[in-house]
Amino acid sequence: MTETENEGTLRKNINAAKMIVGTVKSTLGPLGRDKMMVDAAGNAVVTNDGATIMGELDVSHPGGKMIIEGAKTQESLCYDGTTSTVVLTGEMLGNSEGLLNKGLHPNIVCNGYNQAAAMAVSYLDSHLSVGEGETFHAKEGKYAFDLKDIARTAITGKTVDAALDDVAELCVQAVQKAGSAEKVRVLPLPGGSLRDSYLFNGAIVNKMPVLETELEKSQHIVLINTGLEPQKTDENVTVQLDMQGYSQFKSQGEEDLLSQAKMLVEYLPEGGMVFVRDGAADHVCTYLEKHEISVVRRLPESTMRALSSTLGVSVSQTPADVECSAKGMVYSERHYDVDYLFVQGEIDSDQSTLVLRGATTTTLDEIERGFDDALGVVSLVMNGDGVVAGGGSAYAAMAAHLRTQAASVEGRAQMAIEAFADALEIIPATIAENGGHDPLDCILNLRHKLQSHETEYGPNIEDGGVISMWNLGVLEPTSLVRQAVLSATEVTTAILKIDDMIAKRGE
Ligand code: ADP
Ligand code: MG
Repeated sequence: MTETENEGTLRKNINAAKMIVGTVKSTLGPLGRDKMMVDAAGNAVVTNDGATIMGELDVSHPGGKMIIEGAKTQESLCYDGTTSTVVLTGEMLGNSEGLLNKGLHPNIVCNGYNQAAAMAVSYLDSHLSVGEGETFHAKEGKYAFDLKDIARTAITGKTVDAALDDVAELCVQAVQKAGSAEKVRVLPLPGGSLRDSYLFNGAIVNKMPVLETELEKSQHIVLINTGLEPQKTDENVTVQLDMQGYSQFKSQGEEDLLSQAKMLVEYLPEGGMVFVRDGAADHVCTYLEKHEISVVRRLPESTMRALSSTLGVSVSQTPADVECSAKGMVYSERHYDVDYLFVQGEIDSDQSTLVLRGATTTTLDEIERGFDDALGVVSLVMNGDGVVAGGGSAYAAMAAHLRTQAASVEGRAQMAIEAFADALEIIPATIAENGGHDPLDCILNLRHKLQSHETEYGPNIEDGGVISMWNLGVLEPTSLVRQAVLSATEVTTAILKIDDMIAKRGE
């Protein structure tokens, strides 16, 4: 294999990667455009969310797949910042092409990029990040952050601007109540407007009792992890029974079931509700209904968990294990032909459900994605992460810092560090460009501000020029930026290290 052939592989990988970047670049930032993605069956998704676009892209090229992996890592670690990661990776790769053209070996480029990433991240942590209770010192004064700002920044561009503040507030309340993003359940209900969204202090179940029953009242509730139906045996055995034996075998099962139902009646002498994980035989439900006990069956495990923490009672394995019942308020609401049960406990529980309202399912889907990002970033900061100015200002500040440091690095790696610094500026430049402003002017203005150590400036997407992100309240978790830089560097260097692609035998 000749040197040029190897280089051909690298360039093909770089081109494939650049193509993906081309698809998502225009979605970056609050004024980014949406993408409509249509599959072969004509199903459409309209989104501005990088992670969603990446998930739907049909990419077969290995270089492209690596970029998508980088975006997925970002999403899973930081919930947000996927588009930034992809755009940054594209720019780093593009700039490395220039270095290769000048005769730098890919290894030297990788080496320089790795050094640059380490320097950038350490500057980010030591000079740009602000922790809880700390303040950011700007020329015109000091700023402290508010969790609402973090939520608002993540959700801008994904929701109706008029409701932005309410929505940000709701996100913060939800995470504060639950402790972390994972514990917040989100339920999109079509109809109404985003402003009508609210935090329900309890669990919502999209199933109704088997038999119609009177709701809207406080009930005694029992949770059971199995079912109320004849046991299915797992053992694969054939038993030969005569007629008498068979009816005995069958009635034995029925009797067991009946005795379980009787136990429930004992636990719930005044009537109540039983939520079961598996099925419940109809005749058991009828029997229980006669005793004023209604049954809700086939509930997913996550719902059982939510009910358990709402009511403050553990989920019993079988009726025989029930230790106590809990009291809760249950009522139903119908939304677009689907009935929902709202269950509220009497204890002070951290379980809550964010009920999202929006006109159509398509807009609701996009709003839900915005919420997922916002809940995630609020949860990061609430659990100890620092905060940096958004709008790509942190990237521009890291770039300026790298330029001051590059000369201290010996040899050709210095060129790679400079190329890395240039690549970082793609984030503010693209946000400005997508807002309809000149990216070059934006970068030059930012460099001018950075000359006097004003690190908080980012693109003013409303009026052009640059503006203080701390003053605007455009803030994001430090780890979001740190991870974007690290992921982009890792994917770029991994692609640069590939010098040949060999077809693998199918498995
Ligand atoms: P990502 O998938 O990378 O999160 P987004 O499309 O969500 O991409 O854009 C996020 C970028 O937009 C972040 O850098 C964020 O700081 C920036 N941003 C959000 N609101 C504003 C604003 N009002 N002005 C400038 N930049 C903003
Ligand atoms: Mg985002």
